Amino acid sequence: MSDTCSCDTPKESRPLIDLWQARDQVIALATPVTGTECVRSHHARGRVLATSLHARMDVPNVDNSAMDGYALRLADLKDHVGLPVLLRVPAGSMPEPLPFGGCARIFTGAPIPHGADVVVPQEHVRLDDKGQIYFPKDLRQGQHIRRRGEELREGALLLDAGERLDGIRLALLAAQGLTDVPCRPRLRVAIISTGTELVNPGQALSPGQIYNSNAEMLHALAQDQHVELVDLGNIEDTRQDLENALRYASRQADLIVCSGGVSVGEEDHVRPCLEQLGGISLSGVAMKPGKPFTLGYIGESQASGTPLLGLPGNPTAALVSWHLLGLPLLQRLQGRNLAPLARFPVHAGFTFRANPARHQLLRVYLDHSDVAPVARIAGAQGSNMLKCAAHADGYLVVPPGLQVVPGQRLDYLPLSQFAR
Ligand code: AMP
Ligand code: MG
Repeated sequence: MSDTCSCDTPKESRPLIDLWQARDQVIALATPVTGTECVRSHHARGRVLATSLHARMDVPNVDNSAMDGYALRLADLKDHVGLPVLLRVPAGSMPEPLPFGGCARIFTGAPIPHGADVVVPQEHVRLDDKGQIYFPKDLRQGQHIRRRGEELREGALLLDAGERLDGIRLALLAAQGLTDVPCRPRLRVAIISTGTELVNPGQALSPGQIYNSNAEMLHALAQDQHVELVDLGNIEDTRQDLENALRYASRQADLIVCSGGVSVGEEDHVRPCLEQLGGISLSGVAMKPGKPFTLGYIGESQASGTPLLGLPGNPTAALVSWHLLGLPLLQRLQGRNLAPLARFPVHAGFTFRANPARHQLLRVYLDHSDVAPVARIAGAQGSNMLKCAAHADGYLVVPPGLQVVPGQRLDYLPLSQFAR
């Protein structure tokens, strides 16, 4: 028999922080990276813009046709006579002025010849056997002409500092002829899995061991944010091993993400190591799953040291606390402007009694077979169970103590927002 009885086991007596307050605090505690790197546009996808960028020229840069068709001067259309084609204007050419009494064959994107004030799509005209073009009567001045500067004027704001560059934003810059973009340095993120029971996939399991699934998940989640990964592997549950790993990580990385070992059991060494090598800024959040979430640092202070995210070992608890608390920290460290969480009310399609003291994040999918979407439970909800998370497309937020009944409106957080 063990000489330690169950009443010697430390209990979690510390008060839990409200989930939304914890999120605000985590965001406020992040010190964004500084410095600027000039990055080739081809390599800038996913990077964070270091300075705001403004238009170098009007968009469009010249009045041009929105259609394949004919450009003409409205005043030349009298008595429904046909007009001869006196000019041909393909995209990429610069036309002569439009002669009086004639029209121009024109193509999408081609500059409007001086004097023309209307474009008529080719499918709306009639052509006779002498090559004369006949136009409909109800033409509107300026129709199908894209005016110079109608989208952007030279000097207008293109993109804000702190925006993450994606294909659309890079196209906006390409349309200005830009090839290099001022970006924040990439964040270096060290990932550590704690747990003597962990074995990497591909290796044989001995009795009592499990495969490390968090590392695979956290690598992928961090890679979605275009960081530089420092893989520190699996660390056994000894104080010394973890201390060594954390010291090393703090020299190699701008952020340490640690999974497991963050509760208050004897085999949990993350919090004692933080207390020794730095400090704890926030620990224990009133959320389910994800309660043991901890934010700390290695070094002198949260602002000057290397921040550490202590995620629970249970895979879904690690996932949910990453999405709601870890990700906004990482994104602020990157220098990103954070969008508010995307959330909208949907109807619950089930009965459920919530935890009395914690916000619960149920993994649900949306059933669109009715007029309004209905949230349905995606599977068994244990914090160790990944399958339901894999089949969910969002979290349904259940406030503490709520008795959920079918048809009840609750906030829904789409998972897609966390990959951006
Ligand atoms: P811990 O937070 O260390 O107490 O671990 C909680 C539970 O999560 C235990 O059942 C661990 O075996 C499990 N666990 C911890 N780390 C991992 C991991 N990297 N992958 C999968 N399961 C883990
Ligand atoms: Mg553990």
